[in-house]
Amino acid sequence: MPTERIRSLGVLTSGGDAQGMNAAVRAAVRTALNRGIQVYAIYEGYQGMVDGGELIRKLSWADVGGIVHRGGTIIGTARSADFRTSEGRLRAARNLVEREIDSLVVIGGDGSLTGANTFRHEWPKLLEQLVQQGSIAPKLADRHRTLHVAGLVGSIDNDMFGTDMTIGADTALHRITAAIDAISSTAASHQRSFVVEVMGRHCGYLAVMAALATSAEWVLIPENPPEVDDWEEMMCRRLRAGREAGRRDTIVVVAEGAQDRHGRPISSEYVKRVLEERTGDDTRVTILGHVQRGGSPSAFDRNLSTILGYAAVEHLLGAEDSSEPQVFGIRGNRITRTPLLHCVEQTHAVADAIAARNYEQAMDLRGRNFREAYRTHRTLARALPHASTGQECYRLAVMHCGTLAPGMNTAVRAAVRLGLDKGHQMFGVRNGFRGFIAGDIQPMDWFSVNGWVSRGGAELGTNRDLPSQEHFARIAQEIDAHALDGLLIIGGWSAYQAAYRLIRQRDAFPALKLPIVCLPASINNDLPGSELSIGADTALNNIVEAVDKIKQSAVAHRRVYVVEVMGRQSGYLALMSAMATGGERVYLPEEGITLHDLMTDVATLRRGFEQGKQLGLYIRNDSANPVYTTGFIAALFEHEGGSLFDVGQAILGHLQQGGNPTPFDRIQATRLAAACIDWLVEAAGRATGDAAFVGMQEGEIRFNQLENLPDMVEQTARRPRVQWWLDLRPIAKLMSQQDPLQS
Ligand code: ADP
Repeated sequence: MPTERIRSLGVLTSGGDAQGMNAAVRAAVRTALNRGIQVYAIYEGYQGMVDGGELIRKLSWADVGGIVHRGGTIIGTARSADFRTSEGRLRAARNLVEREIDSLVVIGGDGSLTGANTFRHEWPKLLEQLVQQGSIAPKLADRHRTLHVAGLVGSIDNDMFGTDMTIGADTALHRITAAIDAISSTAASHQRSFVVEVMGRHCGYLAVMAALATSAEWVLIPENPPEVDDWEEMMCRRLRAGREAGRRDTIVVVAEGAQDRHGRPISSEYVKRVLEERTGDDTRVTILGHVQRGGSPSAFDRNLSTILGYAAVEHLLGAEDSSEPQVFGIRGNRITRTPLLHCVEQTHAVADAIAARNYEQAMDLRGRNFREAYRTHRTLARALPHASTGQECYRLAVMHCGTLAPGMNTAVRAAVRLGLDKGHQMFGVRNGFRGFIAGDIQPMDWFSVNGWVSRGGAELGTNRDLPSQEHFARIAQEIDAHALDGLLIIGGWSAYQAAYRLIRQRDAFPALKLPIVCLPASINNDLPGSELSIGADTALNNIVEAVDKIKQSAVAHRRVYVVEVMGRQSGYLALMSAMATGGERVYLPEEGITLHDLMTDVATLRRGFEQGKQLGLYIRNDSANPVYTTGFIAALFEHEGGSLFDVGQAILGHLQQGGNPTPFDRIQATRLAAACIDWLVEAAGRATGDAAFVGMQEGEIRFNQLENLPDMVEQTARRPRVQWWLDLRPIAKLMSQQDPLQS
């Protein structure tokens, strides 16, 4: 039995710290303890492994409680010169095997994982040496012939092959976008230029994505240096054109490892000098530095780390003696496993390609999405669109329908600019179908969407009005009057319903045969054909921040909080926020709530508080049950809790929809809008009246035919038939349960 083979498991964080490492440690520890496996924390990375003693200590269920929201790593990290030596690794092997540790979860960057790989391959020899020295008994060595290694990539740079996102990269992007948003407002006030330096010695991910998410005008990265030698002049020309077109701020993002075509470093100081000398602008440099590593992890990083920590331990429990070290990552919301050696080799291949000035190869190795993001940024940040090349010009309209979702403005901006850049005429429909019917349809130019990339709300206006029988003729007239060739509807459930109604009326009103595409924007994440809709990430982060505060306020009392979150018929926000905040119980609309559930919950709570529990966190989706409301559940718990605990309730309400979109929502909105414009242009060319909705599925942008909408949603509830995230339910449950050894 695999569980008999593993004696003890070690967890360490190594190299540069990254936000989310704590959640990974917690997940690994709790998954192992839940399976009856002993877990040791190895403090201070490999140095702790070499030094042993108090630096390798057992962890209990409670030791990893209350840490998911904390930045950094509670078990410490270090760079260890000793571990790079064979004597160091011999001491490390002895320290592990003496504690019967032969499985490791290593959370670190490519250096740390390379070290783990070396160690794993040397392990049999090291044990043999220890036996020969008489340091350990042959039987002990025999019991641990293989060292099993599972690697998680903790690195804010997102610089490692084997995962779409490394632990910490999303949070770092949060810090960078917040900083650039703040800088742009001061820059605009004074008409100043700013050079912002971000981390990334060999990787331009943070720089490119931050530029895309903030509309910084220029970005310099290691993988793709400027094409020309006199790039300084090209850059300044572009920036001057921006000013002439009316931009008040200039922001250049420089990755730490930026260089020119000849491999000469481009420093932020140098860029500042160039700007001052050639544009005469007052220019400031901001080096973001360690701020990027700091602060509380984003919802995404907490959940990513939790899922990966769980997957790594599950894998180790079943690993064969012959199995090679694996890296755990994600691709399109699915957990992936890749041989560690391959990941390290591919990662080094990018650095090697950059060093050899083979930039085409470096960009290829980064993948299609990266190249696309780079290209899209270059277009969106232009002062004005490219001159038309004489191709067919279509008239395309953009509108919203449904409730507000952060990121709607970002999507409109990208659609308008990318449409204009391709030589089409773009129109904005104000106030959803209400505006359509009233003929409130206006041309939109390049500058009409300036600054919308980061702005919450919906400048075009949105509502849930659906067109009905008496409106179709008016809508058809407006389409004819404006000679529209295509329609992009950015919105939620109502947008999809409205589009579906329109295509059903096409025989009666031929004008409705124009191509229509829906882009998913709903905080509820309840739309078919897309694993994540725009706005859901922002709402999730809003919830997580609020719950963190609620938890803090409760620490002084023995209290249970019942928190109500939005989501309607989809429990996405409830489940993901519970996983990210340590909510121990989550009420989902997919499961409903029974009286029996509530009785069990009361009993669990009473038992927990009797055993010394201080805080309870229950998260309820707003539509989980019409009778057992948040108020009802809170009152029930209060009454049944007696003197054991107090109960507070928090209905988070509209704060969940507010605020500026997160970097993820901005990037997704931009990518999806770009795909929709391409799709509309092609469909307009075919003139076959296609209608579709777009979405991200398994890491790819895909379109589904609108006529298939009814087959893809549940008949009785407003949600997709397939909801990938429900598979995470058992992981969330495991992490938040009370110590299984105590209960
Ligand atoms: P990161 O893991 O963030 O890339 P480093 O490259 O500094 O950070 O690696 C962290 C630690 O991992 C190093 O201090 C060292 O102890 C260990 N390490 C890195 N590379 C190797 C290697 N080739 N062999 C053995 N240990 C290594």
